[in-house]
Amino acid sequence: MWTAIVTIGLIVLAAVHLRRLHTWRRDRRLLAESRRALAQAEERHREADFQARAQLQTLFNGMVEGVMLLDPAGKVHLLNQSLEHLFNLVLDVRGMTIMEAIRRPELAALVERLKSTRQVVSVEMEINGAPPRLIEVNAASVLDRDGQPQGAILVFHDLTRIRQLESTRREFVANVSHELRTPLSLIKGYAETLLSGAKDNPEVATRFLQKIERHSNRLTNLIEDLLTISRLESGQVTLKLNKVELREFAARIAEDLQGRSIEKGVVIENRIPPSLAAHADLDRLQQVFFNLLDNAIKYGRTGGRIVLDGRDSLENKVQLCVSDDGPGIPPDARERIFERFYRIDKARSREAGGTGLGLSIVKHIVQSHGGEVWVESELGRGASFFFTLPKEPDSSGRAGGFPTEH
Ligand code: ADP
Repeated sequence: MWTAIVTIGLIVLAAVHLRRLHTWRRDRRLLAESRRALAQAEERHREADFQARAQLQTLFNGMVEGVMLLDPAGKVHLLNQSLEHLFNLVLDVRGMTIMEAIRRPELAALVERLKSTRQVVSVEMEINGAPPRLIEVNAASVLDRDGQPQGAILVFHDLTRIRQLESTRREFVANVSHELRTPLSLIKGYAETLLSGAKDNPEVATRFLQKIERHSNRLTNLIEDLLTISRLESGQVTLKLNKVELREFAARIAEDLQGRSIEKGVVIENRIPPSLAAHADLDRLQQVFFNLLDNAIKYGRTGGRIVLDGRDSLENKVQLCVSDDGPGIPPDARERIFERFYRIDKARSREAGGTGLGLSIVKHIVQSHGGEVWVESELGRGASFFFTLPKEPDSSGRAGGFPTEH
């Protein structure tokens, strides 16, 4: 009887032990599984975090503006490449304060101001260098869901080009007003003198009327050139590209200017090879040749020689040249003569009926054809104006886009 009871007891104990062992093993397996799952979740989280940071960094690096993120302690958390270039940062500044990273007290003061406001705060600062740059910095606090600051973001915007454009525009308006005022006040002066008695002297009256006519012609030329520049710059002109036989084309323009060249005793020699052709807008190309030839006559030597030449050039281009044997162009003026209203000798240009816009128009037109224009000159030995044009239609179907400056 006892033996049976003991046996049953042992069996029960063994069953309980087996059951516990099974439960313990199952729990251990479950624990290991959940640890694995936790590790995987952590890994996924790390990966997602890393990817989010990489995406943010890529986004930041794609920005033209400089961007910096500060953490709640005011230390640099993230910054982009534009900012590194802007301040020439070669070391890794992450973890530094803004003052340690970019030694500019105005930036530290800007970040300090954020502590007392939820608004965007700004400061303008100059960065020395070649060229010096003017930067606008906008800063804002980064707030969490409860509106508590969790750091700051600073965006650095380069204002240099905008300021340059503003000053170019102001200069342009001032120049235009000046150029318009001069002939207008002369016309007004002659008209008043005529009215106050000079009209009764036929000889004086004729002389004054001729002056009025000359100055009104100057005004007309100026306004026409201004309209051309404005149309070119606003992109209103679409090029109508055609094949141009250059020798014949240049000869016709030289013929149109024959009156002036004969008056100055200038010989025009056309050395452009008969087979040379370009792909260009006829009206615009006429303006280029006209302006360059007109200048060569105006500023070249009395009794001198002008040579028109051309040849094939690299990259499916032709290169053309208008040379004179006049006084030439000083080295420091060679780039500047293509700027609007720049003249080496203002009085001489005005006397010759110049507006100061001819070469700027030439540059616009040539560039819109995808070409280049430049001058070579030796003082006292003349000037040679070169320009290139496409030989064949552009395979990309480009019809020409006008640049926006000069
Ligand atoms: P402008 O109406 O005064 O001729 P342009 O833009 O055509 O204006 O030329 C700008 C300046 O470049 C001229 O005023 C002149 O001083 C100089 N220039 C242009 N062509 C020549 C040249 N062939 N020889 C010497 N100087 C020139």
